[in-house]
Amino acid sequence: MRASTPVSLAKRTDFPLLAAQPGLVYLDSAATSQKPKAVLDAIQRYYETENANPHRGAYALSAAATEAYHQARERVARFIGVADADTLIFVRGTTEGLNLVASTWGRANVKAGDNVVVTRMEHHANFVPWQQLCLAAGAEFRIVELDAAGGVDLAMMARLVDAKTKVVAFGQVSNALGTINPVAEFVKIARAQAPQALVVCDGAQGVPHLRVSVDAMGVDVYAFSGHKVGGPMGSGAVVVRRPILEKMPPYHFGGDMIEWVNDRDSTWNVLPHRFEAGTPNVEAAVGLAAACDYLESLGMDAVREHELLLTTAAMRALSEIDGVTLFGTPTAEGRSGVVSFAVADVHPHDVATMLDAAGVCVRAGHHCAQPLMRTLGAAATTRASFWVYNTLEDVDALVRAVRAARERFG
Ligand code: PLP
Repeated sequence: MRASTPVSLAKRTDFPLLAAQPGLVYLDSAATSQKPKAVLDAIQRYYETENANPHRGAYALSAAATEAYHQARERVARFIGVADADTLIFVRGTTEGLNLVASTWGRANVKAGDNVVVTRMEHHANFVPWQQLCLAAGAEFRIVELDAAGGVDLAMMARLVDAKTKVVAFGQVSNALGTINPVAEFVKIARAQAPQALVVCDGAQGVPHLRVSVDAMGVDVYAFSGHKVGGPMGSGAVVVRRPILEKMPPYHFGGDMIEWVNDRDSTWNVLPHRFEAGTPNVEAAVGLAAACDYLESLGMDAVREHELLLTTAAMRALSEIDGVTLFGTPTAEGRSGVVSFAVADVHPHDVATMLDAAGVCVRAGHHCAQPLMRTLGAAATTRASFWVYNTLEDVDALVRAVRAARERFG
């Protein structure tokens, strides 16, 4: 296969936005993915044939909406390897899922004298809620640094996790660098040294790229965002192991989440409704379920293989450009479809602007990972991220545009 063969895993025509803009090279899927027509169709079908307020009406249409919502939950749970679908709470995304747990379980369980352990690699969504929880509770916030190879320092994690640790929180895959973290090792350390701790995994960059089995992973909490897997904006889920979820205080109060409302007190509905107050976003759930169907039709192993091909090609070609520095783990095998880089003497925002002029969409900035950026010694990087619709031709376009930026400014 020539380096410019325009072979994608998914058909570009499956994605209406990409089909309508043939020249667009979309390399910002780590921020959000484009949406397959199958997802848009599923949402439209829902509104045209099943829309009503679920859980509330005694009439057939409301029952159809309830069933659509229920089926979506089962579908999404199956896709991420969760057998107990009622432990999957639909939320607006990873951020809301992690805040939900930090606000409920966290406030009820983390006290002065305890500690919470996170890693240096976290997205702000898996950093700030725990940091703020510690500040409010008077608990210690501990950060596991990176080792010389740029991975999370496992020996340091083993030193920081102790009998006072109430939460161990880590990302499955770094959004800024693409690093695939050794989650099994993290879980082993947490379970061995802090059996009392809640083990939390941010799966925002895992689900789009890897075959995920939350049950097999052995974590207590797993959150991800639907909009990064071809699903709608404002879709996502957080999964919490049942014994923990049963005891967790509710997050929001209102309709649907109650059993009885007495004048002085209330009791709570069964799972999952207890954590889904108010009219649910059925559209988001139905769209996310369709995205799971779509990805399964491609095959997650094929997704991984395709991204590996593109990432390998991009890393090789970019590293051959004089003045380009790549960040993160040195092998494509160790990362998802992400290449974060700097071009000497050119600000990442200028690189991104020049790339945009060439029709190449990339992200420049701190990638919501300022604590990580500080240790990389870079306030910002330029990040290209690949997904199922990208091709080696897209990689060529990226490399050509970076070369041009370097020649113009360097
Ligand atoms: N965690 C990681 C690793 C991410 O990449 C992101 C989004 O970029 C988030 C959390 C937050 O996701 P959302 O903005 O969809 O809530």
